[in-house]
Amino acid sequence: MGTRRIFLKRAGFSTLALSLPFAETLSAMNFERDDKILRVAIMGLGSYGTRVAEAMVNCQRAKLVGVISGTPSKVETWKQKYGIPDKNCYHYDNFDQIKDNPDIDAVYVITPNSLHKPYSIRVAKAGKHVICEKPMALNAAEGQEMVAACKAAGVHLLVGYRMHFEAKTQEVVRQQRAGEFGETLFFQGLSGFRIGDPTQWRLNYELAGGGSMMDIGIYSINGARYMLGEEPTWVTAQEVKTDPVKFKENVDETITFQMGFPSGAVASCLSTYSLNNLDKFFLNGTKGFAEMQPSTGYGPIKAWTNKGPVEAEHITHQTTQMDEMAAIILDGKKPMIPVDGEEGLKDLVIIDAIYKAVKTGEKVMIS
Ligand code: NAD
Repeated sequence: MGTRRIFLKRAGFSTLALSLPFAETLSAMNFERDDKILRVAIMGLGSYGTRVAEAMVNCQRAKLVGVISGTPSKVETWKQKYGIPDKNCYHYDNFDQIKDNPDIDAVYVITPNSLHKPYSIRVAKAGKHVICEKPMALNAAEGQEMVAACKAAGVHLLVGYRMHFEAKTQEVVRQQRAGEFGETLFFQGLSGFRIGDPTQWRLNYELAGGGSMMDIGIYSINGARYMLGEEPTWVTAQEVKTDPVKFKENVDETITFQMGFPSGAVASCLSTYSLNNLDKFFLNGTKGFAEMQPSTGYGPIKAWTNKGPVEAEHITHQTTQMDEMAAIILDGKKPMIPVDGEEGLKDLVIIDAIYKAVKTGEKVMIS
């Protein structure tokens, strides 16, 4: 890909300008390759895709250059708004052709959950880097397939874990790793919101793969892991359903779950689609504590420890995320908290175990 990327620069623009019709020349000017910029196509122009696109306007290292959508009217709007050329617009039936488009480096998959795996694998087979929203897939087996496909294709697989780049989160994690809270033996994660429209895909098992756990509970799972800096070895979980009409079979409304870690630390978490104002992390150690609320919302995040408030500038999470992901893909930068496919897979293994624990009522061991 590197050779193709720098073709325009090497060719020298004046030579190129003479050999191309005017429109193509303009297009070449717009997308002249800069090896420091990750050129991204967004797949799924829904509410989160829109948020990411707006945040990317302020990126230094990532640029929105393409779209993949099944809705022509949205494509038209995005083309106008972001100056996207026709040749970088695809729909779900033809996006495999992206393999022949040297002006796109990566595709950000922001579709309903069940489409993450098939679409990410198609993107990988087209030779483009994959950025995929959380949950990376519906279960660990699917996640494993994605990791293998991206490895086989020689492309990066990154998961949209925007909190891993958030400054206050990183500062709390730094203090935890430095031992400033002593031995951290307890984590509490509360993740939830009151879901509206009963017809939305988030409440459709086929598209969502579950309920609140897939969508919002995953923040507490992921948070427990990065706040404690360990991987759990067991889970227990209990489900509560107050509205079986809205929350059909296999679509969880509320799950409380516990995780045990090798150090002896435990996590106690709540995932729900029935309560607002649930966005809180609490980490307690033998020498101190950290508390974050909101802890994973779009921010500003608020964090404090036993020593006082944690101060850091609020930057739109997705702006930082996309710049940092550009650095990971283009420069091989290692993020403080991983965001690769293996990281996404770890959360899926835990989600599988939580659903199993709910069904069996048993403690489920994670190897
Ligand atoms: P949304 O419903 O607003 O958008 C989904 C998009 O996918 C729409 O444009 C829709 O047209 C398209 N789509 C393609 N095929 C579809 C199909 N068969 N059925 C329904 N829609 C289809 O949803 P969203 O809130 O943008 O969520 C999309 C993904 O982003 C989810 O995986 C979600 O978990 C994730 N997300 C992540 C964050 C975060 O902070 N990281 C926040 C919100 C959503």
